[in-house]
Amino acid sequence: MIDAARLAAEFARMAAIASPPRREGGMARYLADRFRSLGAEIVFDDAGSRVGGETGNLVARFPGHGEALMLSVHMDTVEPCHGVEPVLKDGIFTSAGETILGADDKAGIAELIEAIEVLRSAAIRHPPIEVVVTICEEIGLVGAKHLDNSLLTARRGLALDTSGVDLVIHRAPAANKLRFEITGRESHAGIAPEKGLSAIEIAGRAIAGMRLGRIDAETTANLGTIAGGQATNIVARSVIVEGEARSHDAAKLAAQTAHMVDCFAAAARASAREIDGQTVEAQVKTAVVSDYPLMNVPLDAPILALLQRASSNLGRTLEIRAAGGGSDANIFNGHGIETVIVGTGMTDVHTVNESVKVADMVRVAELLVETIRLAGEGGDG
Ligand SMILES: [Zn+2]
Repeated sequence: MIDAARLAAEFARMAAIASPPRREGGMARYLADRFRSLGAEIVFDDAGSRVGGETGNLVARFPGHGEALMLSVHMDTVEPCHGVEPVLKDGIFTSAGETILGADDKAGIAELIEAIEVLRSAAIRHPPIEVVVTICEEIGLVGAKHLDNSLLTARRGLALDTSGVDLVIHRAPAANKLRFEITGRESHAGIAPEKGLSAIEIAGRAIAGMRLGRIDAETTANLGTIAGGQATNIVARSVIVEGEARSHDAAKLAAQTAHMVDCFAAAARASAREIDGQTVEAQVKTAVVSDYPLMNVPLDAPILALLQRASSNLGRTLEIRAAGGGSDANIFNGHGIETVIVGTGMTDVHTVNESVKVADMVRVAELLVETIRLAGEGGDG
């Protein structure tokens, strides 16, 4: 059923189109034409203009029978991605030069296109398919966060965007981003250090008492950047510290976030002292934003049952597990579209050693065809 040569050619064509975040225009035009040629109705949302990019998110709708199924991929890749020359040797794609290959996520897109080719040519009954190709996934799920959700009717979906084959991700943490701006008081470090409040010292005390790293099996926390101070002879007035917290449990995420906020607040309060007859205390400006919501698709969810049946029909065993990072699927789940992530066979992603085997892409396309076929069984009409 699956045409390995057609699938490989499709992947090679797309890999050669540069599509860094916000510069996905060429890729978007290619995909719109390709999906149109397969019989889809194409819509772009306005996310591109809202994030300063060349194109919005692409939604390709294929009519069908029964309850709609969303298939999601992303069209952007990390850098360096200009002049990618995909090389196929011994059945494995790599890049020729000092670029990434872009299998993340073009392997997923090629598998999806091949699956639709097969559904069409074999006239397989299938549900309405809503293909979502997001922009700017690699810079913080920006396309998915700006997606016009009114374009979608599906309440279940598959995202093709992780390593592995016959592998499904059903859980991923929620994450918060944190930013602390500590303002102390500057003073000459040699002449009048007692008149200063060092923002660097205060940050140091706050961080020294903070639980960071692996908090428990479900929760992690990190301070990733620190910047501040002006010169060695000036008591530092300002320091900015940025970090994150993640957890598979919403209450634990809230508790860890509060702990980090409290550590800075307590260190600022403890900095209070008399200077020139006045009580002076460092200030902390805290910003906490939700980066992405929790993804937690229960093991007995219909979308997982569908994948399990498809896999066993093909004589395979699926591995279903949790991931440590967020992806577009977190955003879709947050909007009530029960979405799991399917492995695309890509390996060593985000490096110049990235690769993908044609045989693995064929396996994934087979799984997709069987899953979509089962999703179309028993639908109305
Ligand atoms: Zn990806």
